[in-house]
Amino acid sequence: MTTMDSLIALVNRIQRACTVLGDHASDTFPTLWEALPSVAVVGGQSSGKSSVLESIVGRDFLPRGSGIVTRRPLVLQLYKTEEGIQEHAEFLHLPKKRFTDFSLVRKEIEDETDRVTGKSNKISPVPIHLSIYSPHVVNLTLIDLPGLTKVAVEGQPESIVQEIEGMVLSYIEKPNCIILAITPANQDVATSDAIKVARQVDPSGERTFGVLTKLDLMDKGTNALDVIEGRSYRLRNPWVGIVNRSQADINRKVDMISARQREREFFASSPDYAHIANRMGAEYLAKLLSKHLESAIRARIPRIASLINRTIDDLEAEMAHLGRPVAIDAGAQLYTILELCRDFDRVFKEHLDGGRPGGNQIYIVFDHQLPAAFRKLPLDRHLSLQNVRKVILEADGYQPHLIAPEHGYRRLLESSLNYFKGPAQASVDAVHFVLKELVRKSITETQDLKRFPTLQAEIAAAANEALERFREDSKKTTLRLVEMESSYLTVDFFRKLPQEAEKGGNLALSSADRYSEGHFQRISSNVLSYVGMVSETLRNTIPKAVVHCQVREAKRSLLDHFYTLLGKKEGRELAHLLDEDFVLTDRRQQCARRLELYRSARDEIDAVCWSG
Ligand code: GDP
Ligand code: MG
Repeated sequence: MTTMDSLIALVNRIQRACTVLGDHASDTFPTLWEALPSVAVVGGQSSGKSSVLESIVGRDFLPRGSGIVTRRPLVLQLYKTEEGIQEHAEFLHLPKKRFTDFSLVRKEIEDETDRVTGKSNKISPVPIHLSIYSPHVVNLTLIDLPGLTKVAVEGQPESIVQEIEGMVLSYIEKPNCIILAITPANQDVATSDAIKVARQVDPSGERTFGVLTKLDLMDKGTNALDVIEGRSYRLRNPWVGIVNRSQADINRKVDMISARQREREFFASSPDYAHIANRMGAEYLAKLLSKHLESAIRARIPRIASLINRTIDDLEAEMAHLGRPVAIDAGAQLYTILELCRDFDRVFKEHLDGGRPGGNQIYIVFDHQLPAAFRKLPLDRHLSLQNVRKVILEADGYQPHLIAPEHGYRRLLESSLNYFKGPAQASVDAVHFVLKELVRKSITETQDLKRFPTLQAEIAAAANEALERFREDSKKTTLRLVEMESSYLTVDFFRKLPQEAEKGGNLALSSADRYSEGHFQRISSNVLSYVGMVSETLRNTIPKAVVHCQVREAKRSLLDHFYTLLGKKEGRELAHLLDEDFVLTDRRQQCARRLELYRSARDEIDAVCWSG
């Protein structure tokens, strides 16, 4: 293969691969399709577009004839194969079906056109993709388009004129599209639709090739030399004259070889064109195009290469982000699950120990919420003079106390201390909710876990269940702390109190003293100061209990129970835990396929660069 052939083969391969992956229709991936050159034929109806394409290919396979025959774009890829390989064609919509009979190719194009447009004069912008493999072609990508028209015919909407022009423009406006502007020689070049449309998208004429067909049909005594030699309408690239088969030839089934032969003879023997015969005809046009295509591709290689490399980088980054595919054997699955649990656990601990936010909320519970709740306890009301009197007198029963109202004191103390159960439980709950929130955060922050919604939910459920157990234990423990305070009072405290009775030197209280306001006042303030002392203690011991039962356990054994359950699970259940979000599985597969395509495209480009 020559460098040129390999270059174009490369382009064809990339283009085909892109087409297979639907690259031209995707907006999630940058499209290679856009970056690669192609050749499109444009011109009026029956100007000979399909005929020109056929001669370039050297095979009869396109529907031709009068009227509107080509009604869908045909994207045609030519692959030059080694001598001796049988010529064949393949449609993208019929993968694996090899056509060796080219009349069947034509039939399939007609049928496939009708499949989309119905048997009518309607047109459709949906392209048909056809590849031809042959030792007799030059590597090229060609696009056959419906002919430009000036009026709608039977069965066509009025808008068809605009529709066709729009469709044609959408192909040829791409800067990498080489335009074959087909004009029949028996028509005035100045009014050629092809040239008019080509000029709209390629004003400098850099990528436009003027092709004059039907030279054989010119009036006797006239010739197209003024056009071909650039005098009547100058184009940047040389004009090429062509003689295709006439309708009569087609009807008589004149084959391509004899048609080419006849074309050569026409130019060689024509007194008008003999001097430029080597620059005329379909074969020459094909060579001219290949040459142009080669330089167009050469100029684009650096850009294509960098587009490919950039896309590979992006895809690799995304693949890394998506993670490896899920393991198949149970052992590896268990390993993966444990790994993910550990990841989660690590994140959770970072929240508690610092490094990630949230752990300090627990300290806020102990330092602000708990003392504030203590301060709000209605002890003043409970130890009001009135209530103290009531409790003391009730506790005394029929016999008033003699020295100190022991029973009354106990009742007042116990009932006051009872109030501390509320804040104790509230602290337990508050810390529970902080921990729960940290679990929620840690779940969402464990990156690798995102792929596995089932496992994610199971871990969250297991962690929350564990927290619930810790909460129960913590509640019991803190309540017990409070109860302990009321079951055995600190005797010393009362011993140190000044004894009322001693004031009078008399052991028993006089009945006036016993019912005096001052007496109850003293009792109230004694109880209050004892309760104050206990509250200081609880303020220290409740946090210790809460941390011991909830925080420490959460750090130590949050998922222990879950691990035990895991150990009992069978392969199928483990696999279920690793049910991946199908969107991700899909995306990974897509990325992998793209990556493969782009990597092979890169290898091909590298190979061509080195050989060039
Ligand atoms: P398209 O509509 O532009 O694709 O044109 P076709 O390739 O279908 O050709 C339309 C008609 O013109 C067919 O009957 C062809 O045989 C005839 N035709 C095309 N080119 C030539 C030519 O160079 N000489 C002669 N005599 N007839 C041609
Ligand atoms: Mg046609």
